[in-house]
Amino acid sequence: MLKLYNTLTRKKEKFKSIKKNEVGLYTCGPTVYDYAHIGNLRTYVFEDILKRVLVYNNYKVRHVMNITDVGHLTGDRDMGEDKLEKGAKREGKTAWEVAEFYTKAFKEDIKKLNIIGPDIWSNAASDKNIEKQIELIKILEEKSYTYKTSDGVYFDTSKFPDYNKLSHLKLDELKEGARVEKNDEKKNPTDFALWKFSPKDSKRQMEWKSPWGVGFPGWHIECSAISMRHLGDQLDIHCGGIDHINVHHTNEIAQSEAATGEKFFNYWMHGAFLNIQGGKKMAKSDDNFLTIENALIKKNINPLVYRFAMLQTHYRKPMEYSEDTIKNSEHGLNNLANKVRTLMFKVDNVKKYAVDKKFKEKFINVINDDLNIPQALAIVQEVLKSELSKGDKLATILDFDKVLGLDLQKQKIKELPKEIIDLAEKRKKAKQGKDWELSDKLRDEIQKKGYIVEDLQDNDFSVRAKN
Ligand code: AMP
Ligand code: ZN
Repeated sequence: MLKLYNTLTRKKEKFKSIKKNEVGLYTCGPTVYDYAHIGNLRTYVFEDILKRVLVYNNYKVRHVMNITDVGHLTGDRDMGEDKLEKGAKREGKTAWEVAEFYTKAFKEDIKKLNIIGPDIWSNAASDKNIEKQIELIKILEEKSYTYKTSDGVYFDTSKFPDYNKLSHLKLDELKEGARVEKNDEKKNPTDFALWKFSPKDSKRQMEWKSPWGVGFPGWHIECSAISMRHLGDQLDIHCGGIDHINVHHTNEIAQSEAATGEKFFNYWMHGAFLNIQGGKKMAKSDDNFLTIENALIKKNINPLVYRFAMLQTHYRKPMEYSEDTIKNSEHGLNNLANKVRTLMFKVDNVKKYAVDKKFKEKFINVINDDLNIPQALAIVQEVLKSELSKGDKLATILDFDKVLGLDLQKQKIKELPKEIIDLAEKRKKAKQGKDWELSDKLRDEIQKKGYIVEDLQDNDFSVRAKN
């Protein structure tokens, strides 16, 4: 039985899909005015694990992700500049070129982290999506949920009594949060833009005609329109980072349920932040922003090391980034991949072996307990230490890797020259024989030749090339 934590109810719930054995999954995609940072990517890895767990449980998953290429303003509450137009000014390109460039960069980044892409990518600014967004706003207008101000068409949140059903905040608290960005023309601080008018004194690069005037859609309406367009009535799970709970997802629910009169998505799941510098959220608007390129690739670190680091923290717990985290994780992944490689070396055809039933049951129990991946990694270690035959061990671990996505079968370990392997073997024997003096001497010798020796638990140690 698969249990998932649902932000709507603040409980772990038994997962039940609308259609038998099929799941409609919607994950809020990137705003493509800059590179994704490794914090954003933590959310996409959590969603990737969710999808892999669903597939492992034999669900057929239809996964849709939007690309926010219009309408996301620098303030999440409809104030400030459009992030894409801002990016265009910064780079001396058109907003369309900026969107295209960072969409491509995002797709490359997720590949590096072995994230399985969605079945459908959908751009907010595509003609069909603009049409669908306008159609939804028209329905809301007909049902009297909207009003016009000098700068746009707004959703009147006081007309949707269940407005706080996702945030679980009192209306006063929600209003307080919304006051940060002042807009005197709004009837209620929590009201949000469905359509914004182009400014009168300047021309926007991205704008469309609408029944209310030339302009562009608000940020939230795109996810309602795109999920309805591509998932139809298969609205099972909707995900994002926790920052989306109080504004973006709350507004998506209000406008969608007001328009259709039906429940919009049964399960809402949110990933916790990647923090840096002692609990500070990594953000695109801050100078603490690290990309895959500068945090890993430039340092010659395999990006999957970062994936491995993320798997060690449960998705609902905050994770602190540091270079030490990455170093430890590099160690851990190298160790694991080394062990798998040794097994692969000794097992001629893994297909002849079976996935161990007992371990598989244990593994399913933890991943189905709201994606307890840290525990799943502990089970991988148990398998390695078990009495199973080498072939069964390998078959079991490669099966679990379908969920972990560490690509263990293909991991390239930096090869060590024979001379270093021989020295390491000698040191291993010295340690087993408790000859500490010789062991230290051999460590120094290996290090002098340009390799890193790190001592681990139980007299074990690792040797790797310097990056
Ligand atoms: P954006 O490109 O800004 O629209 O954000 C893309 C996704 O990244 C959203 O689901 C956000 O909730 C998520 N996100 C933003 N910052 C972080 C962070 N520091 N850690 C984890 N997820 C984040
Ligand atoms: Zn969204």
